[in-house]
Amino acid sequence: MKLEIDERQLSLEIEALAAISDVEPPAVTRIVFTPTDLKARDWMISRCKEAGLAVRQDAIGNIFARWNGTEPTAPAVGTGSHIDAIPNAGKYDGVVGVLGGLEAIRALQRSGFRPKNSIELLVFATEEPTRFGIGCLGSRLLSGTLSAEAAAKLKDRDGESVDEVRRKAGFNGILQHVKLPKGYYKGFVELHIEQGPLLERAQISLGIVTSIAAPASLRISIEGAGGHAGGVLMPDRKDALCAAAELILAVENAARSSGTVDTVATVGVCDVFPGAVNSIPSRVGMTLDIRDTDLARRDGAMQTIERASRDIAAKRQVSIQSELLNADAPADCAPEVRAALAESCRQHGFSFLEMVSRAYHDSLFISRIAPTGMLFIPCRNGYSHRPDEYAAPDDIARGALVLAESLAKLSGSSQ
Ligand SMILES: [Zn+2]
Repeated sequence: MKLEIDERQLSLEIEALAAISDVEPPAVTRIVFTPTDLKARDWMISRCKEAGLAVRQDAIGNIFARWNGTEPTAPAVGTGSHIDAIPNAGKYDGVVGVLGGLEAIRALQRSGFRPKNSIELLVFATEEPTRFGIGCLGSRLLSGTLSAEAAAKLKDRDGESVDEVRRKAGFNGILQHVKLPKGYYKGFVELHIEQGPLLERAQISLGIVTSIAAPASLRISIEGAGGHAGGVLMPDRKDALCAAAELILAVENAARSSGTVDTVATVGVCDVFPGAVNSIPSRVGMTLDIRDTDLARRDGAMQTIERASRDIAAKRQVSIQSELLNADAPADCAPEVRAALAESCRQHGFSFLEMVSRAYHDSLFISRIAPTGMLFIPCRNGYSHRPDEYAAPDDIARGALVLAESLAKLSGSSQ
């Protein structure tokens, strides 16, 4: 089997998809179920049909494009990623895995390969949390990690529910039917830019993911007492921002003292009310994002933060409430998928690094229902989610080639 990736075609397609955006290039904004997103999806479906793939969409808008194997009822081998993009993002996040996956399939077709198990490209709907506040909605539903009932009720900033928004966009199917039956996939591989600097720094062309870190996030509200910055003396204060400051440091300390660098915790939002120079802060709204490769360790750090929060509330006489937004388990990548990726790298003499994915992806959820792996390619300076995100065409093509061979290996040839 002689596989050739059409690097030029792939680059042209990445540019063409990037042009379907709500902002001026090189920035890309493509929020799920907006007219722009729907246009991009139509464009993507046309490319899949041109490649002779059988296309279907489910009730949340996941797109499945299937190259039927000689055993069409056997479990499929899947690949894919997402094409929705946060505001002011770049061209490559998600897109490399979708268009790279399509080109991998086309390269296999051109080589004369005939798959035994069908090979399926999956374009996950609503991976980014921009619209509904939760990431990977499509793959959470596919894997049954989130119930259809809970998903339907999620709302966007305008107060419109997932159910209303998807129906307006033309997806009227039954949300309960999105969940895939057991054994649907024999294996799944997601190609993605690294979104970090390690591969570039080590000058290594490919990363094989060993595990995906477990993310959790919370919304925290602190309620103290406001007052005049001159009139209320220090012993009488219940300053919500001072409590927040202590809590933020407790968060940092919980992650730093876990005994490993794999625990990371971030307070990325801190809204202060009323936010006036001469007024004592009465209320603070914060978010906490905490991740680890080890679930027990992450949950331990969360408990440490919870204890600190109770102590701070008691000491400062403020109320601290937290609401859990999500807490997902980590995923280990499947040995057979990692082996297929590594074997292909070795055959071509491509160097690779075994690494942890610290960002989470649709693969985290697909791993609940199928043996799953991820292949990373370098991106310049590790930049992602910004307009100057960049992956070199030859790196993308190398990723697509290893992906194609791995899909072929997992599917098996009928010849
Ligand atoms: Zn992504």
